[in-house]
Amino acid sequence: MIYKRSSALFAEAQKVIPGGVNSPVRAFKSVGGDPIFVKEAKGAYLYDEDGNQLIDYINSWGPMILGHAHEPVVNAVIEKAKKGTSFGMPTEIETEIAALAVSMVPNIDKIRFVNSGTEACMSAVRLARGFTKKEKIIKFAGCYHGHSDSFLIQAGSGAVTFGSPNSPGVTEGTAKDTLLAEYNNLQNVQEIVTANKNEIACIIIEPVAGNMGCIPPVKGFLEGLRTICDDNNILLIFDEVMTGFRLAAGGVQELLGIDADIVTFGKVIGGGLPVGAFAARNEIMNHLAPLGPVYQAGTLSGNPLAMSAGLAMLTELNNNPEIFVSLAEKTTYLHQGIKEALDRHDITHTINRIGSMISVHFSATAVTNFSTSAEGNNDTFKKFFHGLLENGIYIAPSAFETWFITDALTYDDLDKTIAAVDKVAATL
Ligand SMILES: *Cc1c(COP(=O)(O)O)cnc(C)c1O
Repeated sequence: MIYKRSSALFAEAQKVIPGGVNSPVRAFKSVGGDPIFVKEAKGAYLYDEDGNQLIDYINSWGPMILGHAHEPVVNAVIEKAKKGTSFGMPTEIETEIAALAVSMVPNIDKIRFVNSGTEACMSAVRLARGFTKKEKIIKFAGCYHGHSDSFLIQAGSGAVTFGSPNSPGVTEGTAKDTLLAEYNNLQNVQEIVTANKNEIACIIIEPVAGNMGCIPPVKGFLEGLRTICDDNNILLIFDEVMTGFRLAAGGVQELLGIDADIVTFGKVIGGGLPVGAFAARNEIMNHLAPLGPVYQAGTLSGNPLAMSAGLAMLTELNNNPEIFVSLAEKTTYLHQGIKEALDRHDITHTINRIGSMISVHFSATAVTNFSTSAEGNNDTFKKFFHGLLENGIYIAPSAFETWFITDALTYDDLDKTIAAVDKVAATL
């Protein structure tokens, strides 16, 4: 395939946008080459600026769970836009989507809408600190909660004591309040909690991790976190920005039957427009301004266009629960086909999957946390990525990302993808 116009557009973009992109992972830095510029998309397909058609396994990093330019969502936005795009005053649709979300997600009474997943997680942590009157937080290595300072943390010299910044611009002062634990390692969490008795406000976690590949929690891990939190007056925050309204109508809380204290959302909840949200029981949410003292605000929060897209999306998912079954079946089919193709060519690999999330790791060991995910062979991944691209299949340009399955994919699309994997595997 030819990507001439994309490369020309990328050269222009780099003159006026840092690295030519508005979010770093789009830049192909970990796989090499120039990013592809999208012209339009419909259903399961992207159409790029060179006229290529690609089967899309990123789907805007999750939101387009029913495919691109999904008609009910597009129509809702068009109708809303004609009536004014922002007022900075309350609108009825905010209550409609809030009521629907509260009815779909277990264990929440109220929800506050923001503009991104980053904002949702940042605000959830502030709320947890305000509610518990404690300052430290625990996060897990390899989990992503957006780009706010408290989350850009790597293991410090003594991991049980405190973390250190992993981006210039994050202060040591901020880093010392974030403690870093290993995913799927309950004992590690217990040690950190014991070493920081009465100081931890919350544990924030992707209850199914999706930002180091797809890593489901091992049996008993989330249950154990729930118990540790209950025993130590710590709030458990499920970051369901990726998994919310994707793995089940009620997210991982519903799927695995575990209650979080605060839940954050993004991606699917906005139907492709910029939306994030955080939600909890009344007892916690009533601490938020203007009801309570914990401050949080946003000029464009609850924006009518964003709310109309989100409402149309959640309504479709709520009315058609069979979508989640269909998504899981398609993902299982893809898993089986990819596994057989890679096995046929003796390519060492591990595939992780849950619901409509799946990731392929070129690794001989089980991938259960950040360090085992990092053991995957990145050279093989790069060849795999570019090979699939040449065959019209677009997966995330990084070995640490999940593939997002959309219900717009047909079994014919999946067969084409599996055939492409077979062809590429012969060259690895
Ligand atoms: C994408 C993501 C975020 C950040 O959301 P943005 O809308 O990009 O700010 C936070 N947490 C998780 C789990 C995510 O996948």
